[in-house]
Amino acid sequence: MTLTTDLEKLPFVQPVSPIIYLVGGPGEGRFPHCNSFLLRGDRTILIDAGIGVQRIEAIDRALRIDTLVVSHPHPDHILAWHALSDRELLLPAQTPDSVFDLNQLGRRFVEGPEDAAYWTHMVKKWLDLHPMRPPDRRFADGETIDFGPIQLQAIHAPGHLIDHYCFMETGSRTLFSIDIDFTGFGPWYGNPESDLCLFRQSVAMLQTLAFERICTSHKAPIEAADAGQAFCDYLAAFDRHQQLILALCRKGMDLAAMLRESPFYRNRMSDATFQRIFETQMIRKNIELLITGGWVVEKKGQYLALDCPPTVA
Ligand SMILES: [Zn+2]
Repeated sequence: MTLTTDLEKLPFVQPVSPIIYLVGGPGEGRFPHCNSFLLRGDRTILIDAGIGVQRIEAIDRALRIDTLVVSHPHPDHILAWHALSDRELLLPAQTPDSVFDLNQLGRRFVEGPEDAAYWTHMVKKWLDLHPMRPPDRRFADGETIDFGPIQLQAIHAPGHLIDHYCFMETGSRTLFSIDIDFTGFGPWYGNPESDLCLFRQSVAMLQTLAFERICTSHKAPIEAADAGQAFCDYLAAFDRHQQLILALCRKGMDLAAMLRESPFYRNRMSDATFQRIFETQMIRKNIELLITGGWVVEKKGQYLALDCPPTVA
């Protein structure tokens, strides 16, 4: 029995090309998990560790993983990195050293010391997240990481985070779009450093690339023929998010009232504190754009839509 056969017997492993496999994360790859990607070059490479320890160990028994490539340090992407702590580790050039300390990582991802401490407490207790160790190598935008038959081009795609990366496997032209994920939720930008304009630019940049298929971290692969519609829907979600907030501004609301309405999570997140933390950021970022665009004004903490919005030239 070949190693490949052992690998393909695993129910969560799906071949994408003769040397690329999608490894589905538990819960259909939804947070706190994500899909990983296994690539067989002159070494065996895993992109991201959100599939959990058990699935990583099952793969490793069938085919030893040599290298872990991390796309960005969100908890659902580094979740079980420690299961591969003795293997080669590659991180983005832009990833700050806060990834080596969960207290600092909390302060990076969450505003305010109390909420940051809550984040750190929860990722330890709930996710058993481990602080990362310094990487063996870092990769930068445009760099092609050489794994022999696998040539992995690193594509800096900021907005979701400052150090969010996508990858192109240049042989099969498989684009790993990571958290430009084409889910119905739309873009996620719930951290202080998340940037809606950069995020939209990164999506538009990916759309110009020549790819045969797109593999995302939280959804099934998309073939090139279906990609045009997927991009159109995903870009429209940026506008949908802005319209949701503009509709609340038409009622004249402050931030607390908007949080009670919960336009993005619809009060469905199981952890109310995390919902407040992330939804605050997403609402605020849309309000900032609406104010800049002249659609909304702020008066004594209330956000009000203008009767006569600016005319578009
Ligand atoms: Zn992410």
